[in-house]
Amino acid sequence: MPQPDTFRPEAGMPLISVQNVQKSYGAFRVLHNVSLSVARGEKIVVLGPSGSGKSTLIRCFNRIEPHDAGTIVIDGATIDAAIELTRLRCMVGLVFQNYNLFPHLTVLENCTLSPRVVKKLGRAEAEALAMNFLHKVNIADQAGKYPIQLSGGQQQRAAIARALCMQPSVMLFDEPTAALDPEAVSGIVDIIDSLAADGITTIAVTHDMGFARRIADRILFMDQGRVLEDAPPEAFFTTPQTERARAFLSQML
Ligand code: ADP
Ligand code: MG
Repeated sequence: MPQPDTFRPEAGMPLISVQNVQKSYGAFRVLHNVSLSVARGEKIVVLGPSGSGKSTLIRCFNRIEPHDAGTIVIDGATIDAAIELTRLRCMVGLVFQNYNLFPHLTVLENCTLSPRVVKKLGRAEAEALAMNFLHKVNIADQAGKYPIQLSGGQQQRAAIARALCMQPSVMLFDEPTAALDPEAVSGIVDIIDSLAADGITTIAVTHDMGFARRIADRILFMDQGRVLEDAPPEAFFTTPQTERARAFLSQML
């Protein structure tokens, strides 16, 4: 039988390749020799206790935090001091926990700003692009409002649309469901599924085990700056391989 689904991170080129990444804040080592790879279109969930380095790891992917040693390659580009940050941040979108929308701009203007400034699109073209993504995340009707006029879930969607307007190949989410009600969480699940269908790779940090189970193709479990487990969700949740992950899960479930 032919096997269409043979693309695996270890076979062929991964979209993201991380090798022996280290990072410290002063004398405190936050990331110890982290290595992992991610295939295009994969949905990765990063779990682990607070302070284990999850946010720091994903922030290294778009160089909001620079790593100290080791290599990160995304879509063929080495993420180091030489990379052009504007280009990197188009390629790797990050949706912050508090959304970070510009309060003085409407939702539409939040979405068109970078395409106009960075991608040099004209107003009409940038607005058409933005409306396309606002439709995709189901808030096209809020385009003329200011962030403060939106619910938390709507602000989250606006932040996702704004990142999508840069046409990234990777979307990073840091605790995207922390402030959302269950219905809004389902909306985020649907959006992440549709991103994957479009070939966009998702890496999400979360404490929400239900959300993790719903979106993850693969779970990375971190503790004290190390990736201790890297497994499909069924395997991770039913038969974690480390004592640390068992203890973590027993507190969570
Ligand atoms: P997580 O997202 O898993 O909760 P973080 O990556 O935010 O963990 O943080 C990992 C560790 O690094 C924590 O001990 C945190 O206090 C520390 N840390 C994070 N950011 C900074 C910073 N800018 N300066 C100093 N220490 C930091
Ligand atoms: Mg964090």
